[in-house]
Amino acid sequence: MKKYGLELMLGCLLLVSFLILSKQAAEVSETMSSTENSKIILVDAGHGGADPGMIGVNGLEEKGINLQIAVKLKDSLEKQGFSVIMTREEDKGLYEEDSRNQKAQDMQCRIAMIKKYRPVLCISVHQNSYQDSSVCGPQVFYYEDSVRGKNLAEFIQEELNLGLKVKRPRVAKGNKTYYLLKRSESVLNIVECGFLTNPEEAGLLCKEEYQNKIVEAIVKGIEQYLKQQKI
Ligand SMILES: [Zn+2]
Repeated sequence: MKKYGLELMLGCLLLVSFLILSKQAAEVSETMSSTENSKIILVDAGHGGADPGMIGVNGLEEKGINLQIAVKLKDSLEKQGFSVIMTREEDKGLYEEDSRNQKAQDMQCRIAMIKKYRPVLCISVHQNSYQDSSVCGPQVFYYEDSVRGKNLAEFIQEELNLGLKVKRPRVAKGNKTYYLLKRSESVLNIVECGFLTNPEEAGLLCKEEYQNKIVEAIVKGIEQYLKQQKI
């Protein structure tokens, strides 16, 4: 019995030291960013081509709204002096037509672009959907173990809540399962701008004026994040 207790204690000790070491390793890799291009931002318009993304009210497709917002975001960031890499600029996915698994190839290509350009950060533009049509509001996702990802997401979320005058503001959310968040070598946020299943919000998301407000909020969030990184 005594022996078992000792083994259990040793096991716990090992587990704790493993957890501490792996956390340190994650932090080290987060600060090793000298290869990043501080002036390059990657903007990813979610879905495209055969993949429409979420379908909202009146058959509204996510891919088109994602692209409209992504293009506006590109223009706005370029005005701020950034070089912007777009994963797509037309209604096309990042896959070969004869690919056996277009979705997998599409996601791998997006990740490969991040690896190639080493942007200081990436914004992946998406729209949400839910079975309850009353659910609405923007939400930003980050990779759960990324301190910098969380910082960026919190700044953008705050600006979206303010800029879009969200009645019931959400908080940025950590996630460990989304492919882009898991695989990206640069800080990446998925910005779900709103719910296509909420008739009122879906209407707004199609309007240029509302899209401009979204873009303005994302740019403000990015600027605050980068300012904080420099301190
Ligand atoms: Zn999406």
